[in-house]
Amino acid sequence: MEGGAERPYICTEEGCGKNFQRGEHLKRHVNSVHLKYRRYECPHEGCTSTFSRKDNMKQHGRVSHGLPPVAMEMSNGSFSGS
Ligand SMILES: [Zn+2]
Ligand SMILES: [Zn+2]
Repeated sequence: MEGGAERPYICTEEGCGKNFQRGEHLKRHVNSVHLKYRRYECPHEGCTSTFSRKDNMKQHGRVSHGLPPVAMEMSNGSFSGS
């Protein structure tokens, strides 16, 4: 035992900041506490980012992938018909 003070895995969620000793613990925390209300997924291929707000998702798309807002708008809609 090293005292258990070493917790290098910190939740980056705004307003959370919980820290964990193991990466899997952090992952589980994020999944159970934060991801459940995150329903906006980045439509960019290969990107697994999810957001609780559409605004954030669109901003992410613009900043990270250079996508115009309209592209994100279309991607997030439910496709009726094929
Ligand atoms: Zn958290
Ligand atoms: Zn993305």
